[in-house]
Amino acid sequence: MHCYVCAQKGKETVAIATCIVCGMALCQEHLIRSDIDMWEGGYPVPRQKAKKKLPRILCHECYSALT
Ligand SMILES: [Zn+2]
Ligand SMILES: [Zn+2]
Repeated sequence: MHCYVCAQKGKETVAIATCIVCGMALCQEHLIRSDIDMWEGGYPVPRQKAKKKLPRILCHECYSALT
């Protein structure tokens, strides 16, 4: 699978992760690994209270939508 963001720009970069929100494939350059506690409110994942904040992988679009 190739990075979706790079593919839109005509590059073929191998994706190393997928955004957990929208499922977009992402390369190192385009992913954001964040440990923001973002599931207050529940959707799209059922509300769960983890003891620790867990790192999540997001694309830039979802990151900006959630923060
Ligand atoms: Zn990329
Ligand atoms: Zn996303």
